[in-house]
Parts: sequence; structure tokens; C-alpha cells
Amino acid sequence: MSAQDRVLIAGAGPVGLVAAAHLARGGVPVTVFEEGPRLAEESRASTFHPPTLDMLAALGAAEPLIAQGLKAPAFQYRTKRHGLLAQFDFAAIADVTKHPYRVQCEQSKLTRILYDQMRGHPNFELQFDSPVTGVSQDEAGIAVTIGRNGRSERRAGRFLIGADGASSVVRRSLGIEFEGFTWPDRLLVISTPFDFHSVISGLTSVNYVADPERWYFLLQIPGLWRAMFLVNEDASDERVQTREFAQSLMAGVVPGISNYEIDHITLYKVHQRVAKSFRQGRAFLVGDAAHINNPLGGMGMNGGIHDAVNLAARLAAVWRGDAPDSEIDRFDKQRRLVTLEYIQKYTIQNKKNLESPGDEFRQSLQAIAADPARTREYLMRVSMIASLQRAEELG
Ligand SMILES: Cc1cc2nc3c(=O)[nH]c(=O)nc-3n(C[C@H](O)[C@H](O)[C@H](O)COP(=O)(O)OP(=O)(O)OC[C@H]3O[C@@H](n4cnc5c(N)ncnc54)[C@H](O)[C@@H]3O)c2cc1C
Repeated sequence: MSAQDRVLIAGAGPVGLVAAAHLARGGVPVTVFEEGPRLAEESRASTFHPPTLDMLAALGAAEPLIAQGLKAPAFQYRTKRHGLLAQFDFAAIADVTKHPYRVQCEQSKLTRILYDQMRGHPNFELQFDSPVTGVSQDEAGIAVTIGRNGRSERRAGRFLIGADGASSVVRRSLGIEFEGFTWPDRLLVISTPFDFHSVISGLTSVNYVADPERWYFLLQIPGLWRAMFLVNEDASDERVQTREFAQSLMAGVVPGISNYEIDHITLYKVHQRVAKSFRQGRAFLVGDAAHINNPLGGMGMNGGIHDAVNLAARLAAVWRGDAPDSEIDRFDKQRRLVTLEYIQKYTIQNKKNLESPGDEFRQSLQAIAADPARTREYLMRVSMIASLQRAEELG
């Protein structure tokens, strides 16, 4: 197989485009194959964590993202019964990040910013309507097949990055198992332009509301609030996506307020899965192709961007001859372990905490909030800085 001197990337989501921008700017030619006719518009991730903003700043993408989003310097835990439980302020970790806040902004804004910045760059190519349908590799190189206009085309490269989302064709073609489970609950996301600040005093833009019967979180993005509920009753997918059902959930958010103006209702399955390996030869898995988790804590896309930056930095160093080939081995070692130790562990823990019936969670949160050293440690973890430090320790 003759390797064309490029890195091939499957998928132009936030993770694939961060990898592409990083590599292209680092002197590595990339071709991104995107299945869709344009960048996805779907509103999924909305929270960008401090270290992710630091990484995006290095690509020149943080400033335009912040300009299109909302800065959230603090977040709150509440309960339906007790009101505000605890507020955590990122100022406590301002010494370890240039962005001591979350940014609330749709992920589709990031992909648009990156694409607009990279178009025309000599090392960057993006092909729409180009689904990757298969992968083959040998010692000399790697190739993908692309389904285009009813025909199958082959494109070769030196490496392949599978950033093609949860149903990754790259992962399946490589025969890599996606270990884990799917929760019986489904996630219902309801968005409304209703101004919650006007009725809940002191509310921040990111709020987790614990309740043993029906917990939810309430997140603000420019012009909208998104309320996210887990639904586990026997009601069908069709039923839970009706306006009536959505209104019944929203009526539990602020006593006495009902009949909200509703913009969108979207239902998602919720999984906890990690690929058995993030690397096979010249092929790598990043983002949702490598790991998926419940959205509590906003770690899926953020973790995926951390994968992309980790991998792209190593590939670029090897490409330029600044590091030996063994440098690339550290990607799988570091990112898979921190995905298991942090992203999977804490998103599962977050879900259990919010639905726990007793006072234990409430008391432990209040104890953390009352102790500056524990608050700092907690913020290092939820902002994902601790997971990046742990990755570095792994060598
Ligand atoms: C309701 C909800 C809220 C969330 N909130 C957050 C949050 O606040 N913070 C956070 O970090 N995460 C959040 N997530 C998770 C986040 O949305 C995902 O982790 C993120 O989209 C992963 O990015 P990705 O680029 O890996 O994959 P995707 O965004 O799925 O992008 C994959 C791309 O690959 C393309 N593609 C697919 N198959 C092929 C193929 N065969 N060939 C070529 N192209 C292909 C797709 O068209 C798509 O453009 C949330 C998820 C949900 C459902």
C-alpha cells in the first residue's frame, strides 16, 4: 500500500475538527471526510470546561466561542425541597487556568468557528457527503473507502483518526469492542426562552437540581434555557416527546409556573461505553467514537477535545521528526485510562448522587463548599483539570 502523506480524519464534529485544526497548524496535511452535506446543526453539548477553553485558545478558537456564548463563573446544586445547597466558583482555581469559568455555547458554534478559520489553509481539506464505509491497513499505510454518488472510492494516508461519533464505522471496521452498558432511562431535553433568572433569585447559568423522584438540570445558553430530565417510565418515545408531557415536567421546575413556551423537545438514549482500545496500528479513536457517557458534568465533548489535542500533538511531533514513533503509544495509555478513571466514574457517580434519596449527598456537598481546600480539589476534578494532570503522570 502506498501511503499518501496525509492524516485522514473521519467525522467533522467538534472532536474531528479540533484534531484537524491542531494537525494542520502543526504542519501536518489532513483530509476530513464528513458523512453529512454540511456541518451538523444539532444542539447537544453546551458546556465548555476551563482547560478545554485553554486548548481552544491555543487554536485561536476560544475568543470567538466566548463571544458567542455565556460565561458561567459559578454553578449551583439545588434540591427541590431545600432550594440552594451549594455554589461553586471557578475563581478558586484561577491560578491553574486562563479561563476560570465554563462557557455555555452550542457545540455547533465551535465546529463553524473552526471550519471558517481552517478553510483555505494549505494543510486542511474537508469533504462533505463523504461517509467512511471501511478501513484497511498494512505496515506502509492506511486506507479508507468512501461512499460517494453510489460509488466506492479509496483514499490512502499515513494515519487515520476515527472521530465519527458513537456509531463509529472506523471502530466497527477495526473490530474494536465498545464495552459498557446503556441506561434504561432516556434523556429528555426541553428548551425554552423563559427567563428563569426573573423567578429564581441568585440562579447561575448551570444548575443541578437533585431529587429522588425527578432530578433535572437547568442550563442557560444564549437566548434559551435547556432543562434536561431523565425519563424512565413506561411511556413510549413518542409520548415523552409530546408537548403535554414536556409541559408536565416543566411544571415541576418553579412552583406556580406552567405552560412554558417550548422551542425544542429532544430525546436521547444514555450510554456508558468505552472502546477496548483507542488505537489499532495506524488508526486511532477519539471523542464519542472512543467513549460515551451520560451528560452529567458535561464531559463527553470536553473529554473528546482532550483526546484530540493529546493525539494531534503527538502525531505532529512524530511527523516533524521531533519525537520517536513510540511517542504515539502514550495517547492510548493516557486517554483510555483517564476516560475510565474520571469520565466514566464521575458521570455515573453524578447521576447516582442526584437521584439519591437520603441526606448524605446534600451534607457532603455542603461540607465541600464550606472547606476551601476541598472546594479547590472538587473544582479541579469537575473542571477536568485533574484528569489532564493524571494523564501526564502516566507518562
Ligand atoms: C443532550 C446532550 C447534551 C450534552 N452536553 C454535553 C456538554 O455540555 N458537554 C460535553 O462535553 N458533552 C456533552 N454532550 C456530549 C457531546 O455532544 C458529544 O460528546 C460530542 O458531540 C462528541 O463529539 P464528536 O466530534 O466525537 O462526535 P459527533 O459530535 O457525533 O460528530 C461526529 C461527526 O462524524 C460524522 N460521521 C458519522 N459517521 C461518519 C462516517 N461513517 N463517515 C464520515 N463522517 C461520519 C457525523 O455526521 C458528525 O458530523 C452532550 C450530549 C447530549 C446528547
